[in-house]
Amino acid sequence: MKALEEKIRRDGQVRPGNILKVDSFLNHQMDIEFINEIGKEFHRLFGDRPINKILTIEASGIGIACLTAQYFNVPVVFAKKSQSVNLDGDLYCTKIASFTHKRTYDVILSKKFLSAEDHVLVIDDFLANGCAVEGLLDIINKAGATLEGVGIVIEKGFQEGGKSLRAKGIDVKSLAIIKGMTDTDIEFEEQDD
Ligand code: 5GP
Repeated sequence: MKALEEKIRRDGQVRPGNILKVDSFLNHQMDIEFINEIGKEFHRLFGDRPINKILTIEASGIGIACLTAQYFNVPVVFAKKSQSVNLDGDLYCTKIASFTHKRTYDVILSKKFLSAEDHVLVIDDFLANGCAVEGLLDIINKAGATLEGVGIVIEKGFQEGGKSLRAKGIDVKSLAIIKGMTDTDIEFEEQDD
């Protein structure tokens, strides 16, 4: 998505540890008109699938998932990061290592909101090592639901997440894939439309 690449080049800031900050439009302040275009693009890419639910993880994925869900006319369910897991049987639980916060979270989702009848599109802001998406896939598997695809706004193609998910046959579509980044330059992979 060319407009996204231009926005990342213009407003993104590269921080130590391979972190890209896009706080001005995606992760802190949110440019709703632009994220709405992102939602439309995910619908263009996945709209032919029998998706009846969008799954993401708090916090940054929620807004993107919501604007996307309007085009699919389906609910959004988000996995919650939890301090204390109560193993009472009503929750799916998994563990996710956070790339940005350098810690592992227990992540939960109520069994009420995901079941074997569901056909799920996973949405997230970034794909780096793949831990967040792998955690969501673990929850989908526990629910016996069907994964229809994974939509990512920004994939850091120089990290392993995208490669390992695609090697498992998962349909991962990223709107921008960063090949490499330095303080002064961000290079993107060429993508077909
Ligand atoms: P992964 O689990 O694939 O290693 O990392 C993806 C998650 O970490 C995303 O949900 C995102 O919140 C966060 N993340 C990873 N890399 C970056 C980055 O460069 N910038 C920002 N803002 N978040 C990132």
